[in-house]
Amino acid sequence: MTVLVLGDQLSRRFGPLADRPDDRVVMIESSGFLRRLPYHPHKPTLVFSAMRHFRDALREAGRTVDYYRAETFEDGFETHFERHPDDDLVTMTPASHGGTERLRTLIERHGGTLTTVPDERFLCAPGTFDEWTDGPPYRHESFYRSMRRETGYLMDGDDPVGGEWNYDEQNRETPPDEWEPPTVPTFEPDETTRRVQSWVRDHHDGGYEEAPYGGDWADPEPFRWPVTRQQARRALDAFVEDRLADFGAYQDAMVESEWAMAHSLLSTSLNLGLLGPAEVVERAIEAYEAGDAPLHSVEGFVRQVIGWREFVRHVYRREMPELATANQLGASEDLPAFFWTGETDMACLDAAIDGVRKRGYAHHIERLMLLSNFSLLLGVEPAQLNRWFHAGYVDAFHWVTTPNVVEMGLYGSGAFATKPYAASANYVDKMSDHCSDCQYYKTKTTGERACPFNTLYWDFLDRNESQLRSNHRMGLVYSHLDDKDDDQLTAIRQRADELRTRAADSEL
Ligand code: FAD
Repeated sequence: MTVLVLGDQLSRRFGPLADRPDDRVVMIESSGFLRRLPYHPHKPTLVFSAMRHFRDALREAGRTVDYYRAETFEDGFETHFERHPDDDLVTMTPASHGGTERLRTLIERHGGTLTTVPDERFLCAPGTFDEWTDGPPYRHESFYRSMRRETGYLMDGDDPVGGEWNYDEQNRETPPDEWEPPTVPTFEPDETTRRVQSWVRDHHDGGYEEAPYGGDWADPEPFRWPVTRQQARRALDAFVEDRLADFGAYQDAMVESEWAMAHSLLSTSLNLGLLGPAEVVERAIEAYEAGDAPLHSVEGFVRQVIGWREFVRHVYRREMPELATANQLGASEDLPAFFWTGETDMACLDAAIDGVRKRGYAHHIERLMLLSNFSLLLGVEPAQLNRWFHAGYVDAFHWVTTPNVVEMGLYGSGAFATKPYAASANYVDKMSDHCSDCQYYKTKTTGERACPFNTLYWDFLDRNESQLRSNHRMGLVYSHLDDKDDDQLTAIRQRADELRTRAADSEL
C-alpha cells in the first residue's frame, strides 16, 4: 500500500505513516489551490514549505516519497498511476467535508483504491462525540467537561483540579500600562521556504473577482511561522516558558501595539499536524504542576484545545453541508471592501484588519468581538465573511473557519451558540485601548461620528427582534431597547441605513 499524506497531515507520530513504516509515501502539492481563493501569501508559503520540509524529513529517515508538484490533484494522481498502476492508497480521513469522496473518485478514475483510517490529529473520535450528543444544539461546556473526564487532564479523581471546571471569570483582564509582553517567536525562512515564497510571488497574481484589492494583501511582514516539527516544538517551548503564565488573564484583551498578546500562536502547527493536541496541553499542565503557570491560564488553554477545537471540528462534521450556507437571521449585506483594503477610520477594525494583511493572523477576541461582531451587527451574509476568513488567515481550514465564523461569529444556524455574540462600543472600550484614539465617539449612538458599533448594535436588536426577543439570554438587552423612545429608534434606524451605505462605499 502507499500512504497518501495530505498537506495538513504532517505527522509521523500517528496514522498510516506510523503504522506502515515501510510503505511508499505520496504527496501532491497542488498549485491550483492558489487560485481557489485570494489567499494571504503566507498561507500557501506555510503549507507548501511545511510539506516540502516534511517530505525531506521522511526521505532523510529512509522513506520513499513520491512528491508531485501538479496543477491539480487529478494531474498528480495521473502521474502517480502512470508510474504505479493499480496502486492502493491509504490516508487519514480528510477533515474537509466531502474530501474522502472527492479523493476516492479521482483515485478510482485512475484505477486505484483508497482506504481511509481515523484522523488521529484530534483527541475525540467521531463515535465518542456522536455517543455524547443528541444535538443539535450542541453545548460546549458539557462537551468540555466530558473531555476533561475522558482525558483526565486537570482532574483530581472525579473533580476538576481547583474545584472549578472553568476559570473564565479570571480571563477577562486588561494589562496594566507597564505590562511587558513576551517576545514573539519568529522562524526565519530557510532556503526551502524562500523558494516557496518566490514561487508564490510568481504565481499569486490576483484576478479574483470578489477581492476588490485585486488579489494583493498589501505588503506583508516577513514570514514567521514554524514549518517543521522542530520549529513547532520550539514555538511550544516559547509559549509554555514565556507566554502561558499571562495567557489566561489577558486572553480577551486587545492592545493596539501588541498583536500577539500572550496567545500561543500554535494554531498553524496544530492544524498542519506539526504538533498534536495531547502534547501541547500536557506541556501546559506540566508547567502548572511545576508552579510555573497559574491554574486559570492553564485551564483556559486546555479548554481552547481539548474543548473548542475538538468541538467545532465535530460540529462541522455533523452539520455540513448546511452549516456553510446557514443564515438563520437572513443577513444579506455584502462584506465591506475595507475588510480587504483595511481602509477604515474605525481604529479597532483598522488594527485588526491591518494585522491580517500583515501577518494572516488576528487573535481570537479580534476575530470574534471585532471582525465578526461588526459583520453580525451590519448584517453581512455569513458565507461571505467565512470566505474572507478562509482566505486571509494562515491557520484557516474550512473545518475550523466555518463553525467559528458562520455560527459562533454570525449566529448563522443556532447549532451551538445560545445567543449572538453582539456587543457595542462599551465592550470594545472595556477590553481594548482602541477607542482612545478613534475618530468615532464611543459614547455616542447617533449623530455625526457616533461609533458605528453603537448604532448598529441597537439596530441589530431592533431588526432581529422577532427572532431574538424570546431568547431568555437576551431579555436584559431587550429591556434596554424598550427604554428607547420612538424618536431615538427612528434616529438609530436612519443612521444604521446611512452606515450600511457608507460601509458599502468603504467610507466608514
Ligand atoms: P490561542 O488563543 O493561544 O488558543 C490556543 C489554541 O486553541 C489555538 O491554537 C487553537 O488551536 C485552539 N482554539 C481556540 N479557540 C478555538 C476555536 N474557537 N476553534 C478552534 N480552535 C480553537 N482557529 C483556527 O485554527 N483557524 C481558523 O481559521 C479560525 N478562525 C476563526 C474565526 C473566528 C470568527 C473565530 C471566532 C475563531 C476562529 N478560530 C480559528 C479560533 C481561534 O480564534 C484561533 O484558533 C486562535 O485565535 C489562533 O491563535 P492562537 O494559536 O494564538 O490561539
